[in-house]
Amino acid sequence: MLILLSLDSPREDIDAIKGKIIHNKCQPHEIPGETNLAIGITGPTHKLIEDEFRFMNSVVEVVRVSKKYKLVSRQMKKSDTIIKTKYGNIGGKELTIIAGPCSVESRDQIFRIAEDLSNLGVKFLRGGAYKPRSSPYAFRGLKEEGLRLLDDVKREFGLGIVTEVLSPETIPLVEEVADIIQIGARNMQNFILLDEVGKTSTPILLKRGLSATVEDLLLSAEYILAQGNFDVILCERGIRTFETSTRNTLDLNAVPVIKKHSHLPIMVDPSHGIGIRDKVAPMALAGIAAGADGVIIEVHHDPDSALSDGAQTITPDQMSIILNKLKAMAPIVERELN
Ligand code: PEP
Ligand code: MN
Repeated sequence: MLILLSLDSPREDIDAIKGKIIHNKCQPHEIPGETNLAIGITGPTHKLIEDEFRFMNSVVEVVRVSKKYKLVSRQMKKSDTIIKTKYGNIGGKELTIIAGPCSVESRDQIFRIAEDLSNLGVKFLRGGAYKPRSSPYAFRGLKEEGLRLLDDVKREFGLGIVTEVLSPETIPLVEEVADIIQIGARNMQNFILLDEVGKTSTPILLKRGLSATVEDLLLSAEYILAQGNFDVILCERGIRTFETSTRNTLDLNAVPVIKKHSHLPIMVDPSHGIGIRDKVAPMALAGIAAGADGVIIEVHHDPDSALSDGAQTITPDQMSIILNKLKAMAPIVERELN
């Protein structure tokens, strides 16, 4: 359920409504909007009596949210969520570019790639310190050492850091370095982890699970918002289908569909989506054409020697070509790329 209040509602009215919600064993969530202040309600809302709220001071409207997911839904918040960071906005008019290696491998590697990307004007550097790998024998990341390198490279080049967290215990360490915490595809339904990142105030990049539906993805995002963290960026990174000529099937349908059902920003990861180095560019452009708020792309100065995901990783020169094309394309899709 959602209660819309006038923007100038006095605090005592807001608190009275929230008090009544809590008294009914539900949870209130204040959602700021342009035209109204909204209080989203989660929990056993079927027990709430709408008229009891409808006639309270400052209440403009009481709305039942029909979807399974509530806080992430367009019904709950009509305007697009724009996440403000030191490195630019995510969502809204601006296109966000996140680029960097799949894994942080060494000081030399991450500094080299960061320098090239920073020269290209990229604001967010990605790189995994904790790597979820299909094989236990594959490179699983430098862990704490990788986080230290990301911290050093951030100080040197002033880039925002996007890095993955795998377990609740390492959230405090990752949070110290990350400007955006990534939840990878394999952990999209690790509900304990979702609860815990929901208690942080760092933006979360939530990647779609390998065989998750759009509704599954939105329900996972709901876990994070329900804990109080509204800064969630969704990411379409390809799903498993019967097709074997590509690593995954980048589900571009998901982009406009998610825009319809949710106010959260959505990015596209064409690298994992297609898994083929020289086909990353067209899928990056297609993602933006479909309405994505940005792209996340794997870049390495020497992709063939990358310790993970080399086959889908492009060089800084190839990244530069993509950026030029996206710049040319941005006005056509009514976007900006700074
Ligand atoms: C990654 O970003 O390198 C990664 C492991 O992605 P995903 O979780 O989408 O497979
Ligand atoms: Mn990867």
